[in-house]
Amino acid sequence: MKSMLPPVRKDRIITQLPGCFSPDAALHTKDGFHWQVKAACQGQKKGAVGFNVAKVIVVGDVAVGKTCLISRFCKDSFDKNYKATIGVDFEMERFEVLGVPFSLQLWDTAGQERFKCIASTYYRGAQAIILVFDLSSVGSLDNARQWLEDAMKENDPSSVLLFLVGTKKDLSSTEHLANMEQEAIRLSEEIRAEYWAVSAKSGEGIRDLFFRVASLTFEANVLAELEKSGCRRVGDIIRLTENSKEEEKTTKRKANCC
Ligand code: GDP
Ligand code: MG
Repeated sequence: MKSMLPPVRKDRIITQLPGCFSPDAALHTKDGFHWQVKAACQGQKKGAVGFNVAKVIVVGDVAVGKTCLISRFCKDSFDKNYKATIGVDFEMERFEVLGVPFSLQLWDTAGQERFKCIASTYYRGAQAIILVFDLSSVGSLDNARQWLEDAMKENDPSSVLLFLVGTKKDLSSTEHLANMEQEAIRLSEEIRAEYWAVSAKSGEGIRDLFFRVASLTFEANVLAELEKSGCRRVGDIIRLTENSKEEEKTTKRKANCC
């Protein structure tokens, strides 16, 4: 049956793996999609590319800019007047990655973060977590660790991609930004997150960030599906971990020998 959905917007089509923000704090720094993902998408291998929605949760202190981050990307708008988020569950953003339809479900909190009582259904089953902090507030970076801890109570660490995103870049002086980035990159390394600095006001970095989130979650989903369907051996991992160099070598070895 033909899909009833309108075609994906031309500016949501991803044909190449977008680059990271900083190679010092990236989930991986390879310059293309995993070869097995490319092969699966080319052949539209049955089952492997069928898992096409990823839940992405956005967490962080109140007023760090979570809602503005999502609005800038999904609606290309910025509202400088603060309005607490009420009653919003998620925005669905459609992409096409390597010719395959793929959607991100971007979950924004409905203001519960004020009371630190976010329901477990909000956190549960996330494929990616965007930990947001305000680049002009050291406290909000310190609290990112606590947000992560809460979110991970409901998720499996081996299957979640983490992004640590500093917002309001437009407000920071170069010197202040450099200090904050040093701290943020240190935390990213510790929690194995990919670091980004963006501004919802100017739009800087927003599209690149979400394209990267979409691409890496898509890649992880397809690899997981291939693994489940037995097309892929366990251990051929794409996530960058402490042993990333080793993994890259392993992946290359496998690419050469298969
Ligand atoms: P949330 O509580 O984390 O969802 O925060 P909001 O997205 O509602 O933003 C809180 C406040 O920060 C609002 O007044 C926004 O206008 C402001 N804000 C958000 N992002 C930016 C940004 O990139 N630059 C500047 N200058 N202000 C921002
Ligand atoms: Mg909000």
